Amino acid sequence: MLEFDLFRPQNLQEALDLLAEYKGSARVMAGGTDLMIALRAKKGMENVKYIIDISRLQELAYIREGEGLEIGPLATMTQVAESPVVRQCAGVLAAAASTVGSPQIRNRGTIGGNVVNAAVCADTVAPLVALEAKVKLERKGGSRWLPLDQFITGPNRTQLAADELMTGIVFAKLPANAGWGFMRLARREALAIARMNVAVVIKRDSQGKVEDASIVPGAVLPRPGRVTEAEKLLIGTIPDGALARRAGEAVAEAMISAAGRRWSTPYKEPAIIALTERAIKQALEVEWR
Ligand SMILES: Cc1cc2nc3c(=O)[nH]c(=O)nc-3n(C[C@H](O)[C@H](O)[C@H](O)COP(=O)(O)OP(=O)(O)OC[C@H]3O[C@@H](n4cnc5c(N)ncnc54)[C@H](O)[C@@H]3O)c2cc1C
Repeated sequence: MLEFDLFRPQNLQEALDLLAEYKGSARVMAGGTDLMIALRAKKGMENVKYIIDISRLQELAYIREGEGLEIGPLATMTQVAESPVVRQCAGVLAAAASTVGSPQIRNRGTIGGNVVNAAVCADTVAPLVALEAKVKLERKGGSRWLPLDQFITGPNRTQLAADELMTGIVFAKLPANAGWGFMRLARREALAIARMNVAVVIKRDSQGKVEDASIVPGAVLPRPGRVTEAEKLLIGTIPDGALARRAGEAVAEAMISAAGRRWSTPYKEPAIIALTERAIKQALEVEWR
């Protein structure tokens, strides 16, 4: 285990002051479920001398309903999964949070940690991209907002600067004509990191025709993003099972065109087609809530 000094700031300003003072040699800790493993493995932690434990900053543990939904980075997976407002206005995110790890991991692990860690398999990232979430980054004396799909630049890579803290995640509430689907594939039903996941949001008009669709696979593309080729197939149609499958095939084509055909492709290709098809079917069933 790497040796470090631990700071426990009592408020946001104190945390930002510490980050400004020790940037480059400090890392933030929220729930610690990813960070502790990295510290033990000493992976990418060579310059870390200070840990800033923000887990006591209750001001960052909010879930608020305004014009949109605002979620603080310290909201735990359990809080996100069980929040009535998230379940009602962003069910795809609540469903994804409820699949993370085990009850212990969900009680400790935060949505902010999941996003900033930016693992390709992070379960809340695909739903948040499908919801077109933006993240707020604050440093001493300033702040900025970034769309989540721009914030994450690659596997475990983000645009977070060394002196910045993520302090908010916001997105529009899903309207009543939206349905959603979330599917994941892992080696076991529980306590297993996803090999792949897919988040789907579909909005339909009063005739049942698709007005808008977001299809976002996780652990499939080099960075999280919508597969517009798959979405376009659905828009303007009343999709049936065959069209849902064709959309799944479009996601598989996007995966192969980004990464090429690899040893894992014979496994991943049918898997991502089936996951996407099922997520679309789930989204079409959860309609007119
Ligand atoms: C047994 C086990 C099972 C797991 N299963 C899953 C799973 O099924 N699905 C899944 O997606 N993940 C899973 N995880 C990974 C992990 O639990 C999640 O990614 C969790 O949400 C991380 O949150 P945390 O608060 O623990 O983050 P931390 O470990 O505290 O932090 C993670 C990273 O984010 C940074 N960070 C955290 N908060 C902020 C902030 N507000 N501002 C700036 N930087 C910040 C930290 O510096 C660190 O780099 C699992 C982990 C374990 C150990």
